[in-house]
Amino acid sequence: MLRLQAFNITRRLTRAFSTTLTNTSSSVGSSNSPTGSINFQLSEDQLSIQDTARQFAREVIIPAAPHHDKTGEYPTEIIKQAWELGLVNCHIPSKYNGLGLGVFDAALVSEQLAYGCTGIQTAIEANGLAEAPVILAATDAQKKKYLGRMTEAPLMAGYCVTEPGAGSDVAAAKTNAVKKGNKWIVNGQKMWITNGGKANWYFLLAKTDPTANAGKAFTGFIVDADSPGITAGRKEWNMGQRASDTRGITFEDVEVLDENRLGEVGQGFKIAMRAFDITRPLVASAAVGLAQRAMNEASAYALQRTTMGKPIIEHQAVAFMLADMAIQVEASRMMVWRAGWLRDQNKRNTYYASIAKALASETANKCAADAVQIFGGNGFNSEYPVEKLMRDAKIFTIYEGTSQIQRLIISRAITDATKQGL
Ligand SMILES: Cc1cc2nc3c(=O)[nH]c(=O)nc-3n(C[C@H](O)[C@H](O)[C@H](O)COP(=O)(O)OP(=O)(O)OC[C@H]3O[C@@H](n4cnc5c(N)ncnc54)[C@H](O)[C@@H]3O)c2cc1C
Repeated sequence: MLRLQAFNITRRLTRAFSTTLTNTSSSVGSSNSPTGSINFQLSEDQLSIQDTARQFAREVIIPAAPHHDKTGEYPTEIIKQAWELGLVNCHIPSKYNGLGLGVFDAALVSEQLAYGCTGIQTAIEANGLAEAPVILAATDAQKKKYLGRMTEAPLMAGYCVTEPGAGSDVAAAKTNAVKKGNKWIVNGQKMWITNGGKANWYFLLAKTDPTANAGKAFTGFIVDADSPGITAGRKEWNMGQRASDTRGITFEDVEVLDENRLGEVGQGFKIAMRAFDITRPLVASAAVGLAQRAMNEASAYALQRTTMGKPIIEHQAVAFMLADMAIQVEASRMMVWRAGWLRDQNKRNTYYASIAKALASETANKCAADAVQIFGGNGFNSEYPVEKLMRDAKIFTIYEGTSQIQRLIISRAITDATKQGL
């Protein structure tokens, strides 16, 4: 009953909010409009959905997280509850029965879910990653079919781009699709696919013109996960985020109807990369959630742990570590907000999304490592929460573009701007 009430409240608030956004471009977005002043005050609706996510993380995710970390069991029941509350698939436009949240608002949700457990949050967020190319490039019929079904049942989706020999170097991907009549025949091997074994459908990037350069060689497809010829490999046992399901996926003579082609032939690379403008701020916001959790755990511990006659929080060396955590968390959150807000204004945010992703993921790692330090010997032990945070944090500097790749993007933008005399 409570769940149903919460669900209804969230739906009502978020619907009201998305209508407001569409109709008047109000709230945080418009307050930063060219004619308006800067305003960091969240609206009532934003506070409300943030609160729903915060409460869900505290009451449902945190108590269950150690179990999923230890066993690697996929958090099916938790995802179902989050879905019922409207905390999954936040970006699906209202036209397709979704909440239609912008990146800024979705970031408020993902930060809170990640505070609870980034493994569970990654499983949830991987839907957003698979859906982003569909939102960007699909036809109305494709959106109705594949986004629509995500709002009808708690289904999962996966983004199939990386391969064993091609991660940072997406252009080196070899999975290919060959046109035969009104079908494409797909062969190849994808790797490290989040929700790989749980997805109902995949966004797939495949090479359709081996002679062309990357910008024209690839095409995007939506592929039903139960298509004959698709095999999901074993669940990978990773350093952290063990609740999330990561697998290799093999495509062997998989037939994909041309009506499932996403956008024009040859446009897949651009579609796959543009999706990151939406999703990198959200990965960054999850990293902020983890960093905030590390800081909160460390400060609570530092207050009750005494050495040399006083709580360790009163030793300046410890207090300053906490202060540094706060500096990094606050700065990272602001970059997430900026990157998300720009995207919601339909402005190019690639540079800011990369800064947010690099900064927040490194903040998460530093805060988690320092939290372990503040916990001392206890920090190294799995009975305490911070060693999990340290293991979970590492992937943030790797997936959705490593920190080095973010720096490549940022430095290219600097070079371009400098050449143009900006
Ligand atoms: C848990 C997990 C979940 C994932 N989920 C997904 C998913 O859902 N979908 C998906 O498609 N992929 C997913 N990935 C893949 C992930 O995006 C890649 O692992 C990542 O992009 C890095 O690619 P790689 O592993 O091939 O490393 P490599 O590209 O081999 O990089 C190795 C090292 O070299 C550095 N490097 C490479 N090229 C350069 C360069 N030009 N300049 C400077 N440094 C460079 C990298 O930064 C890195 O430090 C996931 C990975 C993991 C581990």
